[in-house]
Amino acid sequence: MSEPTSEQLDLLLALQATDHRIRKLEHQLDDLPEQRAMEESRQRTVELGEQLDETRIEAERVGGEQRRLERDVEVLSERRDAERTRLYDGTVTNQREMQSLEAEIASVDRRVTEHEDDLLEVLEQVEGLEQRIGRLEADRAAEEQRFAELEAARDEAAKGLLAELGELKATRARQSEGLPADLLERYEKVAARTGGTGVGKLEGNACTACRIDLSWADVNDLLTGPPLASCPQCQRLLVVPA
Ligand SMILES: [Zn+2]
Repeated sequence: MSEPTSEQLDLLLALQATDHRIRKLEHQLDDLPEQRAMEESRQRTVELGEQLDETRIEAERVGGEQRRLERDVEVLSERRDAERTRLYDGTVTNQREMQSLEAEIASVDRRVTEHEDDLLEVLEQVEGLEQRIGRLEADRAAEEQRFAELEAARDEAAKGLLAELGELKATRARQSEGLPADLLERYEKVAARTGGTGVGKLEGNACTACRIDLSWADVNDLLTGPPLASCPQCQRLLVVPA
């Protein structure tokens, strides 16, 4: 392999910078805050839906209780009214029979009152449950609206990042074309092995890729050697400035 020119080495360092920005953007796309907020919003909508289902089941049960009590009040009232009619229309004349009928009417009347009291309580429960259903439906609609807004924001954020990523990939393609194939291949192999950074630059007495200080002897060897070497510490490609 012939020695790369200093322009090629500058280009290699520029390519490394582009690759870093590409990796960072890809990470940002995977980790958009709008995306995470959408997942939380979806979870909240599911929870509200579950609460709505539970409340509706409870409302149905209490509604059944209401209808049963209303029927009972109706049947008992009719019975009481029929017995009152019988008491006063002259069909019952026997004193003891009349007393027994009066006692029966009083007893049924008490049951009507008890059922009416129960019914009032149940009606309050029905009202409370209906209000709760209304609130939950409003909350769920608001959450769905929020989700739609987050989705639009996510798409907008992703659009910007995707456009930037497209430009960076075009830049990368131009930069790679300017490099000798064997140099590009060496860089890419090292970058793949070391998690993305394939080349550093000697700055002072350290390599910019690993930032570990080199011994004076190593630095001296590098400065008197070729412009492209390997870092004695991290083994990445190392550009040595002239
Ligand atoms: Zn290094």
